[in-house]
Formats: sequence, C-alpha cells, structure tokens
Amino acid sequence: MKIQILEKNDISMRLLIEGTNAPLMNTLRRIILSEVPTMAVDDVVILENSSALQDEFLAHRIGLVPLKTDLDTYNLPENCECKSEFGCNLCRVSLVLDVEAEDHTIVVRSSDFKSENPTVIPVSNEISLVKLAPEQKIRLEAYARLGKGKDHARWQSVSMCTYKYKPIISVNTELCNSCGECVEACSRNIITKTGKKIEIRNLENCTLCQDCVKACQETPKAVKSSWDETSFIFAIESTGALTSERILREALNILDGKLVEFLKQLPVKKT
Ligand SMILES: [Zn+2]
Repeated sequence: MKIQILEKNDISMRLLIEGTNAPLMNTLRRIILSEVPTMAVDDVVILENSSALQDEFLAHRIGLVPLKTDLDTYNLPENCECKSEFGCNLCRVSLVLDVEAEDHTIVVRSSDFKSENPTVIPVSNEISLVKLAPEQKIRLEAYARLGKGKDHARWQSVSMCTYKYKPIISVNTELCNSCGECVEACSRNIITKTGKKIEIRNLENCTLCQDCVKACQETPKAVKSSWDETSFIFAIESTGALTSERILREALNILDGKLVEFLKQLPVKKT
C-alpha cells in the first residue's frame, strides 16, 4: 500500500491510497463515522428558561454543539472506574450557561458557555443557540461526556468522511480533433485546452460524471473516463472536536483493537 497526502490541515485531510480495496476503505470510513469518540453534551439541567424556545429544543441544540475533545484525559463513561451514573471529573465536564437580556434583544451563542475545563469548549464561538428578548433569561448546567457516533450523531467526529476510486481520464490524440466540447462540459475544470492540445489537470477533483465522454462528438470517443479499482481518494472533514489526523489514527487503533480481539476469541486447535 502506498499513501500520499493530497491535502492536510487540522480540519480536513485528503489522501491518495494506492494498492488497497473498497472493503478496507469502507471499514475505515464506518469506524470514523461511528466509533471514534468525541465530547458532547448529553445531559442538561435547566434551572431557568424564559426564552421562547422550549427546554427540549434548547437541550437538543446544545447537544449538537461540537466540543473540543481531550481524548488523553477523559474516559468513556462505560470504561471509567467511577461506574457512576453522574460521572466523575475523568468522564464528565460541566459547562454553565447563565445569560440575561437586560434592555435589548440578544443572541445567546456558544461563546457564552463557561466550561469547568478550559480545554473542553465549543469548537466555534459563533454557534447561535437562542434569541432572548429584553428581560428573558437562561440559566442551565450542561454535562458533556465522551460518546460514539453510533449512539447519537452529536458524538460523530466528522461532518464528512468519504472515499472514491482514483479517476482515470485519457484522451486519444489520434481520434481527438481538439473541438473543445469536453473542456466546456467539464464542470470541475479538469480538462483544459492549450492551443490545440487537450490536457488533464487536478485529476483527483474528477467525480467520474462522464460528461466529458458524452460531450465528445467523435466515434469512437476520443475521451475515455474510468477508475482504478485499487486506488482511492479518502477524505475526512472533522467537526473540529479532534484534528483530522487524530481521527484517522484513532480509527486505525480501534480497527487494530477489533482484530486483536477477533484473534483472541478465535478457538485454536492445539496440535
Ligand atoms: Zn468517571
């Protein structure tokens, strides 16, 4: 297997992975979507809410706010030694929201949360939660825990995780009359025309829509579009809770753990 990083930053990552197959890519994708733990609020104690939004709506919105996650400090509640329904300081973080609109309408945002751990805070300060009219007030305590996407989408570490085959586009120069129809048809600007020459650029952006092939007026077609069944473009976009690299590493560790467990449980015949 050969891996090349096409693009990488804290939030998103795109890899070209060669010499593998779709089942492995899908396994990785599904683990990333459903098993990499992140922090999210799953319990809200509302002390006062005079806003127009009902308590349940407000709690639901707060649950969906992505929180920066510290996987090295916190335990999943089911693995924590406290075994307590309420959690301890190794498996739970409390965040307080105490906002009052005095004489004018205000928007309560994620930045209004006061967290007991300054590293576990909303990934963005700009997430709107509710509008308060003058004299309306919200006072609540929210409890965040680690959880997994398979239990609820609020714990999903990524907003997107996909893979696609590596595209292959070829232009047969003997059949091509450089009419440029395929260049016009390509919405991703992958096919370009320089002078009389048709060139392919940024092939990884191709969605294999086949529009270039349909646009080609020649018979047989001068443009051919297909894919490599052993090469994939794998993309991750984090919610901001963890870095894209950490998500991938965690997913690989989880996969590794599953295989070790499988081997352990496999009945072995003693010879
Ligand atoms: Zn605990």
